Amino acid sequence: MNTDDTTSASLLEQLRRQSTDPRRRILFTGATIVTMDPDLGILHKSDLLVEGETIAAIGPDLSVEGAVVVDASGTILAPGLVDTHRHAWEAQLRRIMPDVDDLGGYVMTTLAGYATIYRPEDMYIGTKLAALTALDSGITTMLDFSHNSRTREHSDAAIEALRDTGIRGVHASMGPHFGDWDRQWPADLTRLKDQYFSSDDQLLTLRMATLATDEIAGPVLAYGPELARTAADLGIGVSVDAVFGKASSEAVLSWAEHGILGPDVTLIHSTGLTTEAWKAMGESGTTVAQIGLETAIPAVDEALAVGIRPGLSIDVEVALASDLFTQMRALLAIQRMRAVNAAYGRGGDLSRITTHDVLDFATLQGARTNGLGGVTGSLTPGKKADLLVVQAEDLNNMPLNDPIGTLVLGSDPRNITAVLVNGRPLKWNGEVLDVNLPALRAEVNASRTYVLNTPAA
Ligand SMILES: [Zn+2]
Repeated sequence: MNTDDTTSASLLEQLRRQSTDPRRRILFTGATIVTMDPDLGILHKSDLLVEGETIAAIGPDLSVEGAVVVDASGTILAPGLVDTHRHAWEAQLRRIMPDVDDLGGYVMTTLAGYATIYRPEDMYIGTKLAALTALDSGITTMLDFSHNSRTREHSDAAIEALRDTGIRGVHASMGPHFGDWDRQWPADLTRLKDQYFSSDDQLLTLRMATLATDEIAGPVLAYGPELARTAADLGIGVSVDAVFGKASSEAVLSWAEHGILGPDVTLIHSTGLTTEAWKAMGESGTTVAQIGLETAIPAVDEALAVGIRPGLSIDVEVALASDLFTQMRALLAIQRMRAVNAAYGRGGDLSRITTHDVLDFATLQGARTNGLGGVTGSLTPGKKADLLVVQAEDLNNMPLNDPIGTLVLGSDPRNITAVLVNGRPLKWNGEVLDVNLPALRAEVNASRTYVLNTPAA
């Protein structure tokens, strides 16, 4: 923002004083607004009004009574980014295996190893660290694929961590792969729904998390008609991880036969699938989450060919980057290499995706994939105010010539000086608010030390 630190701090004070007023108004003025709404496009030198939790208006020269005015000239306002799948509980295990190059190595170390000794407090601190990091890097919606729900208390801790950060969190619950656990999942989803997700208009939502096949962890966690019925009875979506290869392709075809594919079902990775499987996914409007730890090239062209625009995801911080700028740029580069290879006659005819495409994947398509397309993912009047203030005149971004190019190729988390979720500032003046970093660090380190030094159960 085009203000010095003192002004910015006093603005924050004003915003905080009004924070209990449901009609609180914040007016951002003079910004370049990348709405990612197909009908609104990009607006130059324009204003955006937040009223309570909602985006009330977007346009030039809005005049509004009683709003806290934020001079946003020299910035880009963008929708908050959306992560469609991250195993948040692993955050204190960050980069323990940065060079792991096969899924088996990851599974044996984390899911069959450290996961088995996690206590509820380790779930809490890992999930909290992941969510705060997400907010810092402009991710306002994070689907936590919480696949270490060993007891009810493990699930409670993961949900409470999301709640305590203020992020728009999607708690996708799954039982653990290995070791002793209470076998309370999936029945416990009913309790979770009643206890934490009873309203249709709240910051946190619930999904069921499952695996594609019984190859990794047996039949209990594998998606099929029975789990689909449980999810349908609860009125929640399903995210399916480890979708790859021949066995998953066969599973996809059987789900199509059972009529349990569709927009509420997200297939994660979706690599190495057959043409028939992709066809079934396209015809059913199934959603797809891309990138993550899998030994295959992201199948973005296969998705687009059947009319599926995917969301992006972080997956695991043990071996991958934590932010969506990296994922957007990685996907853009990978797909362009495939397209260039094709142009040289090595693999069919592919057109190149664009910076607009990957930003669309990281925002609107991510929201749709998470079942929140009507709520977030674009700057659209009537949607919730999940937005980023990105400095366009910083050393690495000036001068502003192409706002989408600047967001996708130029920016990184340091340029995001403010983040609002549901109309509430959670990052301001470059700092995530209300985080006691030394205390958080001590909790993270204590949990990390316990987890790494206790023999697997
Ligand atoms: Zn995963």
